[in-house]
Amino acid sequence: MTATKQFEAESKRLLDIMINSIYSQKEIFMRELISNASDAIDKMYYKALTDDSITFNPDDFYIKVSTDADNRILKMEDTGVGMTREELEENLGTIAKSGSLAFKNENEIEDGHDIIGQFGVGFYSAFMVADNVTVYTKSAESQEAFKWESNGAEGYTVEPAEKENHGTEIYIKVKESGEEESYEEYLDESHLQTIIKKYSDYIRYPILMDVTEQ
Ligand code: ADP
Ligand code: MG
Repeated sequence: MTATKQFEAESKRLLDIMINSIYSQKEIFMRELISNASDAIDKMYYKALTDDSITFNPDDFYIKVSTDADNRILKMEDTGVGMTREELEENLGTIAKSGSLAFKNENEIEDGHDIIGQFGVGFYSAFMVADNVTVYTKSAESQEAFKWESNGAEGYTVEPAEKENHGTEIYIKVKESGEEESYEEYLDESHLQTIIKKYSDYIRYPILMDVTEQ
């Protein structure tokens, strides 16, 4: 069953602020997605430590970034704890948990230029560079996988999907470049490597990347 849901009004407003933020700050969506992936692996790691039925192999925990430039796809994958349907709806249907929302409530913000780079803006920041975001996820607690999809503006859909292992795959359909802004760096491996290096200082898990032979 596919259900189309609306974003909350607050989410929409923050989304607008982010989407209109200046060019140089857009790359911080990578920081947000990497930190979410790392958090999800932390949760899985903890689960493995406390649950004897889960065998722990350090090689199983990683974040992987890849691109399909022909189809303008940037893919981020993690082997973390994943999400159930309920968690998908709760976590990606609203940005109430994002750090910047609390900040926004305390301070009248006319435009987002100053906060975007500094505060955790969360998952929705992907829409700064994406026309569409599709998430495939399977919870370590469940046999069922789900697909979440959104264009950022008109809500999102959730439906059952196929996924072999627990964890999350995020497909970012990168916007077409226009006269004023270019999004090509998010499809370019060497640019992505630079961005990843910049934002992965505190990440304890390997960030893998398929690199095309030159
Ligand atoms: P925050 O990280 O501050 O909670 P986000 O907007 O970045 O806010 O993410 C919202 C929630 O979505 C997270 O708290 C987490 O529960 C869930 N989530 C996001 N990305 C992932 C992921 N890769 N794997 C599992 N859960 C995730
Ligand atoms: Mg986050």
